[in-house]
Amino acid sequence: TYVVTDNCIRCKFMDCVEVCPVDCFYEGENMLVINPSECIDCGVCEPECPAEAILPDTESGLESWIELNAKYSAEW
Ligand code: SF4
Repeated sequence: TYVVTDNCIRCKFMDCVEVCPVDCFYEGENMLVINPSECIDCGVCEPECPAEAILPDTESGLESWIELNAKYSAEW
C-alpha cells in the first residue's frame, strides 16, 4: 500500500488521482489520502506526484500518515 504524506497538504495537483487504476484516492481534510484496502500497490502514482508526497508504507516513520490515510479514506 502507498500512503500520502505531508507534502500533499494544500497541494492542488491531482495527477495521482488521474493515473490510479482503481480510483482509491479520497479527499481528506487538507490533502488527498489513499484507501489502504483498495490500493493494489501498483506504484503508478508515486512518480506522478509533483510534490513527492506519495510513499510506499514500508518506509520507516510513516505510522501517523498510514493511520491518517486509513482514517480519512474510511469516512467515504
Ligand atoms: Fe492507486 Fe497504484 Fe497509487 Fe495504489 S499505488 S494509490 S493503486 S496508483
